[in-house]
Amino acid sequence: MIAYGRQSINSDDINAVVRALESCWLTTGPMVEEFETAVAKYVGASHGVAVNSGTAGLHAALAAIGIANGDEVIVPAMTFVATANSVLYRNANPIFADIFSDSLLIDPSDVERKITSRTKAIIAVDFAGQACDYDALKQIAKKNSLVLIADACHALGAEYKNEKVGNLADMTVFSFHPVKHITTGEGGMVVTGNQLWDQRMRMFRNHGIASDHRQREKLQTWSYEMLELGFNYRITDFQCALGTSQLKRLPNWLVRRRNIANMYNKSFQGRRDLTPISQGNIDRHAFHLYVIRVKKNHARVDRNLAFKLLRNLGIGVNVHYSPVYTHPYYRNLYGSMNFGCPNTDEVAQEILTLPLHHGMTDEEVAKVIAAVENVFAS
Ligand SMILES: *Cc1c(COP(=O)(O)O)cnc(C)c1O
Repeated sequence: MIAYGRQSINSDDINAVVRALESCWLTTGPMVEEFETAVAKYVGASHGVAVNSGTAGLHAALAAIGIANGDEVIVPAMTFVATANSVLYRNANPIFADIFSDSLLIDPSDVERKITSRTKAIIAVDFAGQACDYDALKQIAKKNSLVLIADACHALGAEYKNEKVGNLADMTVFSFHPVKHITTGEGGMVVTGNQLWDQRMRMFRNHGIASDHRQREKLQTWSYEMLELGFNYRITDFQCALGTSQLKRLPNWLVRRRNIANMYNKSFQGRRDLTPISQGNIDRHAFHLYVIRVKKNHARVDRNLAFKLLRNLGIGVNVHYSPVYTHPYYRNLYGSMNFGCPNTDEVAQEILTLPLHHGMTDEEVAKVIAAVENVFAS
């Protein structure tokens, strides 16, 4: 099966992990800081806080800005559940905004419509690896005194105009799960230009304790104070060693991802039965995902059948995503509420993710294209 996404590990990565395992610090050590500095520098942010998942990063970001009971945070309906779950972790309410049906990016005008007196923040998702409309989102956030958070778990290395994702929103969250651009096994990072939020997130990932183990060792003291209720969201040094090693290859990987997307685009050009979602400027796109729409009124097979037939041919297609509010947990929470996201509901029946990762060979790309042509001709 050709996976829709997967990691690439080389001997440099393995050596870096082994060196970290042989060092004094397995966690909370110098490799964590090194990784934080490297990612923050790469995206052009002044602070980076590494945690043990992207989800932990979202949770830490919302805690740092003080999201609490009854607050509302606007999130796109078309995203991984973690985006909305992180709002629930704070006993706050995720409010679902619609997306554009061509790009699947959050629609700023719908965000604006859904603002109430309780709204405190917006989480924008750079879907598939394309940056959202940050000019519009920033303006809305400023006008309504909201914090703008980017869930950029799809978009490490993406750009908007001439800025890297990571330097556009007030806080930006990345994931280092193996299907994402670079991996630490599990892991995540929040980057921000705000020093106070940086400090709060460092406490939050360490039980809400004001100092960490290494700081106490330096000060030769045993005493510490827990100031608020935090979590153990710490990431290990050997994971960060892997991340720092992977980051060095990211620029080449982005080139390869764009290259594969171009091959797909060329092959599917002019088809009415399947259309890639719109990609904006391809040179700024990070291509975590390559998503097509299987057009109901034009395709010989519908999305669900296409999924089955392609899987049978060894193509690891997938669906990103079912709208968050269609999951049983959210249906139980909200009942049969109308979320006012007609575009999300419409595209949810048509989207299909084709395999795309930096380790794919030209032969594998050709095999995917041939299988797609075969299935849609049948
Ligand atoms: C991967 C992902 C997350 C969560 O990241 P984890 O590291 O798996 O916790 C959150 N949001 C989006 C959009 C993602 O794709």
